[in-house]
Amino acid sequence: MDGKADLHMHTTYSDGALLPHDVVVKAKGAGLRTISITDHDTVGGLEESLALGKQYDIEVIPGVELSATLNDREIHILGYFMDHRNQILLDSLAEFRVERLRRAERIVGKLNKMNIPLSMESVLANTSGDCVGRPHIANALVNEGHAEDYHQAFRKYIGDGKPAFEKKVCFSPEATVSLIAEAGGLSFLAHPGKSISEEFLIQLIDAGLDGIEVVHPSHTNELIQYYRGIVSEYCLLECGGSDFHGGKKGDETVLGQYTIPTASVDMMRRRLFSN
Ligand code: AMP
Ligand code: ZN
Ligand code: FE
Ligand code: FE
Repeated sequence: MDGKADLHMHTTYSDGALLPHDVVVKAKGAGLRTISITDHDTVGGLEESLALGKQYDIEVIPGVELSATLNDREIHILGYFMDHRNQILLDSLAEFRVERLRRAERIVGKLNKMNIPLSMESVLANTSGDCVGRPHIANALVNEGHAEDYHQAFRKYIGDGKPAFEKKVCFSPEATVSLIAEAGGLSFLAHPGKSISEEFLIQLIDAGLDGIEVVHPSHTNELIQYYRGIVSEYCLLECGGSDFHGGKKGDETVLGQYTIPTASVDMMRRRLFSN
């Protein structure tokens, strides 16, 4: 029987607010049949999440969300079904997390130059895993009274192009796709949104992506139809989900709202078997 799948969820292992246990229980409660835990640059929560899936009778697919750079622009790539014990994958993820730490230090340095006395210690106090990201810096800024709220922290300081923004050092899309493929997984372009030109999209497809994230909270119905068209034109697969991070206002209501049919997950499996 067809069910609903949400293949984009974060936990405390990266910048989500909830433990894998609570994500799995909430997903089950929202009537989802299949989910994927796609933490940024870490597979640390997968072992536990897969076991929880069995315990609560909900299918959990191993996932990860990586950042890549093309033409100086950062994009996100979702990996699914890879072997999360693959040593090359684990080593690369560890490197990416070190890069995140260095970048957080650069951001804190910029903030300090702007006379905002934020310390790395207070940023790290806002993380629970070993993957530091801008959401943790935003929370630290709010908790220390330097920003009124999470969104203002991005608008004023650390959002793309804002005064304390710093880029991550990332692999190319080709290298990211190969890393996932070498670990036996499939790669999808995450939330392409509306600001991506068709030319840029084709460059990314040429990098070897298996599919595109068609359903995402940032996509209008028109965009969903547009990306479904691209998926079918280029013989790609589709994925989709809520990009659930938990904790923030309204986050609970996204569960069950941004889904793809489990039949799309079956197509992903078929692609894996024919590889
Ligand atoms: P990072 O991977 O460290 O660059 O952090 C990226 C994350 O920060 C995204 O996944 C969003 O959750 C969050 N983020 C980025 N830009 C904004 C923004 N302008 N407002 C709120 N959250 C944002
Ligand atoms: Zn995130
Ligand atoms: Fe993302
Ligand atoms: Fe995400």
